[in-house]
Amino acid sequence: MSANSERNPLRFGPFEVTSQVFYTTPHSFALVNLKPLLPGHVLVCPQKPHKRLTDLSAPELTDLMQAVQRVQHMLARHYFTGSASPSPPRTDGNGEEAKEDGGHPGDGSFNIAIQDGAEAGQTVPHLHVHVIPRIRGATAKSGDGPDDKIYEMMADENGNVGGALWDREHKAGGSRPRPGGGFPRIEDADRQARSMREMEEEATMFRDVLGSLDREGF
Ligand code: AMP
Repeated sequence: MSANSERNPLRFGPFEVTSQVFYTTPHSFALVNLKPLLPGHVLVCPQKPHKRLTDLSAPELTDLMQAVQRVQHMLARHYFTGSASPSPPRTDGNGEEAKEDGGHPGDGSFNIAIQDGAEAGQTVPHLHVHVIPRIRGATAKSGDGPDDKIYEMMADENGNVGGALWDREHKAGGSRPRPGGGFPRIEDADRQARSMREMEEEATMFRDVLGSLDREGF
């Protein structure tokens, strides 16, 4: 750890994560995951320990999403190499890392997710954006169907690191954080397309609510 990081330790919720951080910006940082759901699953957080997305100022929000984009470029460069298994960075003839090697974001896909609040599955009370590369031929969603286990994994015990840490550190007392945030299972066949009228009514209602917020100065 550098002298600077000892002076300015970075915290993710209650955890000191300075040595896991690989990217910092004026308002954000990105860290490797304690328990990644897939290879390359990382987190991007605001430097201030805001809990909820609505707590961020406009500059913090812009900075956070720009950091997410930068991290996507980095992950694409490393993981979207055209081979099913990610390879270590290649070098040119001089042993230097080849700059143009590796992929671009369009060479694969990403899940970008925020569990904004405990009832949505948030287990660490410090806002974080999950960035999960989906590597073609390796960790990409299979087939054209709607099924993708990643959301269930994020919400179930796989993603309940709060629970795993509680097991390790607080065996006595308190209550174990529970996984949460799974979507109710809805069969695709039961989903009816809505009529234009229904959708327009809802759009009108949301415009009215936004109008009230504007009038109240929110
Ligand atoms: P969520 O369920 O959306 O709150 O996600 C919490 C995420 O934080 C999970 O992906 C965990 O694996 C990750 N996580 C929890 N504790 C740590 C830690 N100390 N260092 C790095 N990642 C962590």
